[in-house]
Amino acid sequence: MLDKREFYINGKWVAPAKSNDLEVINPSTEEVCAVISLGDQADTDAAVAAANVAFDDWSQSSKEERLEVLGRIKEEYAARMEDMAQAISTEMGAPIDLARNAQAGSGLYHIKNFINVLKNFEFEKELSSDQPEARIFSEPAGVCALITPWNWPMNQVVLKVIPALAAGCTMVLKPSEIAPLSSMVFAEIMHAAKVPAGVFNMLNGDGPGVGSQLTTHPEIDMVSFTGSTRAGKLIAENAAASFKRVHQELGGKGANIIFNDADEKAVKRGVLHCFQNTGQSCNAPTRMLVQREKYDEAVATATEVAAVCQVGPASESGRHIGPVVSKPQYDKIQGLIQTGVDEGARLIAGGTGKPQGMETGYFVKPTIFADVSNDMTIAQEEIFGPVLSIIPFDTEEEAIQIANDTPYGLTNYIQTSDPQKAKRVARKLRSGMVEINGQSTGAGSPFGGMKASGNGREGGVWGLEDFLEVKAVGGWAND
Ligand code: NAD
Repeated sequence: MLDKREFYINGKWVAPAKSNDLEVINPSTEEVCAVISLGDQADTDAAVAAANVAFDDWSQSSKEERLEVLGRIKEEYAARMEDMAQAISTEMGAPIDLARNAQAGSGLYHIKNFINVLKNFEFEKELSSDQPEARIFSEPAGVCALITPWNWPMNQVVLKVIPALAAGCTMVLKPSEIAPLSSMVFAEIMHAAKVPAGVFNMLNGDGPGVGSQLTTHPEIDMVSFTGSTRAGKLIAENAAASFKRVHQELGGKGANIIFNDADEKAVKRGVLHCFQNTGQSCNAPTRMLVQREKYDEAVATATEVAAVCQVGPASESGRHIGPVVSKPQYDKIQGLIQTGVDEGARLIAGGTGKPQGMETGYFVKPTIFADVSNDMTIAQEEIFGPVLSIIPFDTEEEAIQIANDTPYGLTNYIQTSDPQKAKRVARKLRSGMVEINGQSTGAGSPFGGMKASGNGREGGVWGLEDFLEVKAVGGWAND
């Protein structure tokens, strides 16, 4: 069992001000795999103070200095990939191959993309060529609180820390208390990369503790939060009193619209995408909308795909899905599956209870409901488990109406061989992202949502701009 009680403040690992231990549970085995400490107000104050002192120098650093630091982080991260994958797999249950390739891999991918963004970014510009004395500066937003979830832990951490550094911000990272181990490896990477002391600080803690202390702290300028819509609302309310800028990446309930003319792999692709990471992705296509003519065939295909979907421990190599992250999450999913049955949806795969022979570990049966109507609880609530709802539709207009009839607006998906139809529908979907025919958004695209899915944009030039303030200057003497 790992002893991970210390915090990373002002360039050093330090003991917590007060002891307040929390056990980290491996969801595949239900065993304690580490002990961390939950921070206290004194720890939060120390981390925020360090970030404030460091802001003076780091905010004035040149683009070249920042690029050097990011380059060193890239090298150190690449050298620690296996440690990162093992930490993620242990703390949140991603099967080790997924942890290596997608979970840990996403961190390196984003670091490389942000290095390219920073190289080409202009922090000072003329307002226009006919007003050379009017300048526009892009300046760091200040001292940032970065609060992250457990489901794609390193993806979320890197999407915040790296653009914050590139912008010249200093920061306190509070990772999820459920999956803190990967962030502790990340803090070691930051130390090895010689990020100047105080620029990056990391505290463990929970929402009511360090989370709330950061989001109400008078010396924090900006909060970048990824997590549930419930916590996002609370954080925005808490931060409002001190006029903090709040960027939120929240939940989702993506629709995957499968038209009659979709390619033959569309249904299989949609089911596997929904189950990826055991359904614990904000952008999972959890509502499969199928046009009537293809409906029965789609239901039959989905049933076959679920029947061969393997469930297994995170430590094993392979393409199986792992456990869900925790007992509360397992219980919530079980309750929602039962609600689906009670509200009259047709269960065609899975159901309540654990997969046969898997009594230990938070394993959930890959579950699919057909004949779901969009007002059912399972079509409206984010389940965050391997549970798919199939909903029939007749016309293009009806598909758009159902897709948009959700509090969320993160990612929607369209499957059709008619490019004009795909374009028409993509324009009408109320979501931050749309993927057509299995094609993901490109490297350097912004990731983010509308409505209850939040207001931030992470990745690419938009992800950097989220950490910048704009300053207009008049009377600038041009030499
Ligand atoms: P969560 O909201 O329970 O916790 C997320 C983080 O917020 C944790 O670090 C937690 O300690 C902290 N927190 C909780 N309450 C807080 C409060 N009142 N004040 C300050 N901090 C608080 O979410 P989770 O269960 O860890 O993650 C799953 C959720 O994250 C899902 O809803 C998922 O859709 C969402 N998510 C969204 C995106 C996106 O980019 N849109 C990406 C990944 C996950």
